[in-house]
Amino acid sequence: MSTEMRDIVLELETNLKRVRERIATACREAGRRPESVTLVAVTKNAAPEQIRGLISLGVSDFGENYAQPLAQRAAQFAEFHARRVASGDAAVAKELRWHMIGHLQRNKAKQLLPHLAMLQTLDSLRLAEELDEMCGKAGKRLPCLVQVNASEEPQKSGVAVGAAVHLAEQVATMPNLRLMGVMCMAAEGVPQAEARKTFARCAEIFEEMRHSRIAGEDMRHLSMGMTQDLEAGILEGATIVRVGSALLGSGNEGNLNDAPE
Ligand SMILES: *Cc1c(COP(=O)(O)O)cnc(C)c1O
Repeated sequence: MSTEMRDIVLELETNLKRVRERIATACREAGRRPESVTLVAVTKNAAPEQIRGLISLGVSDFGENYAQPLAQRAAQFAEFHARRVASGDAAVAKELRWHMIGHLQRNKAKQLLPHLAMLQTLDSLRLAEELDEMCGKAGKRLPCLVQVNASEEPQKSGVAVGAAVHLAEQVATMPNLRLMGVMCMAAEGVPQAEARKTFARCAEIFEEMRHSRIAGEDMRHLSMGMTQDLEAGILEGATIVRVGSALLGSGNEGNLNDAPE
């Protein structure tokens, strides 16, 4: 390993430890086990060496906002991962999973499918119908989360709060989609209390789906919380947090829009 690569891995290791501690502390406060929360490393602005570093450190789940980089990176790092596994490196995860966490354009879906472990941003019936058909042809059953616009910002993607349960009912009837829960984002740069309110609203929708037995036992994931508000997500029941800048440092800070609009 080069000195430069070693420095990158050392920094990632520190960041990863800090994020895992944040998750553990929030879990303790919520009376939950830390294993009940999956960390998805958001690599949208990460350098390839950083992704290799995270894989070497045992990170298994990765998130991207756009279809094309996701497909490319999944293919590229599958080879790296396979080599590490073949060399007997016990630190790497058994399997890498790529999550789509940005809005999916229907014309980009096909290239994405072979690489995708979970689509977290299912937000319309039309997209669901097309994906169901595509997955049928590809012989794949795709794990999905319905993205809810729980912060109720007009420009935000996601299905409206009042329409989420109905969309979930419809998706649950599609044979090639495996509905597994709900995803949402809080508004950018808001205080934790405000983020928690958004997440509580999303958790309520999730509970309503469970209560109505939509998707049965599969309905078990709540994807809520990022660098700015992962504690709020966990306190409201998140089983998945999506973290970019806290792991990847300054190179990723362009995503954090701290300034109020
Ligand atoms: C970028 C992004 C994240 C990660 O954000 P950070 O603030 O860098 O942790 C999580 N979820 C979505 C949907 C994103 O676009």
